[in-house]
Amino acid sequence: SPPPTTNGTANTIKSKSQDGINNSGEGRLQIVNEHQEFTQELSPYLDKWGLLDKGFAYDVVSVFGSQSTGKSTLLNRLFGTSFDVMDESRRQQTTKGIWMCPSSYGNTLVMDVEGTDGRERGEDQDFERKSALFSLASTEVLIVNLWEHQIGLYQGANMGLLKTVFEVNLGLFGGGGDSTKAKPQEKTLILFVIRDHVGATPMSNLTATLTQDMEKIWASLSKPPHLADATLTSYFDLSFAALPHKVLMPEKFESEVIELRKRFTDRSRSDYVFQPSYHKRIPADGVGFYMEGIWQQVLTNKDLDLPTQQELLAQFRCDELSAAVTETFLASSKIVRRPVEAGTVVEGLGSLMKDWLDTALGKFDRDASRYHAGVYQRKRLDLLSGLHASLSSLFLGQLKNLHKTETAKFSKDIIKGTKEVGYDFAKVVNEGKASARERFLNGAKEVKVDGTDWEYEHELASLDEDLKLIADRCRADETKKMVNSIERNVKRQLLEPVEVALSQPSPKMWDTVLQTYKDVSEDAEESYLSKAKSYHCSDEENDVALASLRARAWLSLRRKLEEQTSDATILATLRATFEERFRYDEAGVPRVWKPADDIEGAFTKAKDETLALLPLFSIVSPSTSSLLPTLPSPESSFDVESDPTPFDPSTAFVLLSPTKILSLETRFKREADAAYVEAKRSMVSSVAQ
Ligand code: GDP
Ligand code: MG
Repeated sequence: SPPPTTNGTANTIKSKSQDGINNSGEGRLQIVNEHQEFTQELSPYLDKWGLLDKGFAYDVVSVFGSQSTGKSTLLNRLFGTSFDVMDESRRQQTTKGIWMCPSSYGNTLVMDVEGTDGRERGEDQDFERKSALFSLASTEVLIVNLWEHQIGLYQGANMGLLKTVFEVNLGLFGGGGDSTKAKPQEKTLILFVIRDHVGATPMSNLTATLTQDMEKIWASLSKPPHLADATLTSYFDLSFAALPHKVLMPEKFESEVIELRKRFTDRSRSDYVFQPSYHKRIPADGVGFYMEGIWQQVLTNKDLDLPTQQELLAQFRCDELSAAVTETFLASSKIVRRPVEAGTVVEGLGSLMKDWLDTALGKFDRDASRYHAGVYQRKRLDLLSGLHASLSSLFLGQLKNLHKTETAKFSKDIIKGTKEVGYDFAKVVNEGKASARERFLNGAKEVKVDGTDWEYEHELASLDEDLKLIADRCRADETKKMVNSIERNVKRQLLEPVEVALSQPSPKMWDTVLQTYKDVSEDAEESYLSKAKSYHCSDEENDVALASLRARAWLSLRRKLEEQTSDATILATLRATFEERFRYDEAGVPRVWKPADDIEGAFTKAKDETLALLPLFSIVSPSTSSLLPTLPSPESSFDVESDPTPFDPSTAFVLLSPTKILSLETRFKREADAAYVEAKRSMVSSVAQ
């Protein structure tokens, strides 16, 4: 049964929408109205009818025939549609225009044309021609509806109609090519439905007559030269059906209609009408745009150029589809933009991007590939490059963030590594570098989309550079630490022996001091070099570190010498030396002076021997000049301006000036004299006891 309409009596009550299109209920749509205006509602209706996303999996059938031959009645019975049928009792005219309604039996669009019967009324055949053009551009099966008694009446009105159909078809599908053969989708099935079939004349006779008539009409067409040899059968297949009188034999009529319906629904039948070769290959979601375009061209009376129409359709639909998938795509990618801009490395960003791309292209390919191949391919490239462009900022952002994260991690790794006992700096650095690089590369490869010219080599080179800078800075810090620790060692090994040597003055003391200095310095340098090996320091860095080490070692020595030759220290040293000689005997036993002792002689000897040692302190003078060290140049931190002494060859080895020696001599003598006096006194007192 036909689907119910909202107002129940669709043929009498009409709702009028703003564009002047009459649509009653949702069951059908007036796609062209009596003012020859095309509806804006077709796509929404196709959607409502559940056909919009069917691709090519839908069919179109339309009907032709004289006015009031029961066409609408037939369609409604055959497809369960709700087209207006002329009200018998009032002989009321149906609304002019082209109507569309979905079949209740399968994904089929049914078109019904309502026109004034121009031929019978002597009016112009303008609308008839226009609707023929329009229908043929999309119809697979054209039902030609006629009374049995019209057959053979070659001059009949319906034959004029068919002539129009043929002419129009040649214009549409004849093409400009040399081939007189139609392409598959340029073929249409004409299904003659013979109405009020009485049965007296055998069906075979009727079909033979109709076929002959068709051939005659075809022959009578004035064809363009390049189609002069084209045959009717290269553009049309003919098929036939007959139905009994609906009013006189209602039950028979009904059962025959049901039988006929099977030819539209049962694919397994050999006489199934919707053969693939009749399909006009307009994807369902493009039907709205396509039909409107066709109608506009029909209206402007231009030659209908179907290839151009199909290309326009393809451009329009591909753009629409592209915009739709791009919108979804951008919405998906939006969630990661903020974290990426905020500097976060988004885990699995590449596979996310790939998913979005696959989804977008998958949807686009599914829908757009049904359209003109060249246009589809071109639009696909546009779409792809647009999507890639929108992703490239994410790619670059991710690279930047990887770079930042990896340099930070590298710094941390080195610090952690150099805290471990017995670490090998070069190993720590190399391992840190290798894993930073590897993680960067993995991340970069993950986020690179196949088929793009995106590159990460640049960022990688910049990462390498930064890693090197960080390693260099760390190495400089580490070397400095090492030099400091070696310097502490130098002091430890140097200062005590020097102090010991200088506190027991002898002509050999400088040899001892300088030999110690030489040994300690050499040890220090060796120790530096052996440690520096693991840091992979450059020669230049080594030179700087060694120079610093030498300067510091020398300065330590020099400061120690200055300390040991300060007035107080030197006087103490002299005093100790003197006392050792004067107050102790050769066996180291304290002397107790007796009157017989030659105190004066002993005193003079001890004093002279001590004084003879004093000049030893005036200048660093080893027994062989080869022991004298080459002076290092001062460290940059050393203020040569205010105290050039330690690094100036003319002063570096000088410790006491002649004047200083004299003054020390005087002070020492005084102290020695005091010791003498005391010795004398102690002897007197011991004698007195
Ligand atoms: P259309 O103008 O071709 O669409 O014809 P309609 O479907 O509106 O029907 C026109 C008239 O023909 C109506 O009054 C119908 O009742 C009548 N009619 C419908 N089917 C048949 C049929 O099989 N035989 C006859 N004789 N009349 C029919
Ligand atoms: Mg009708």
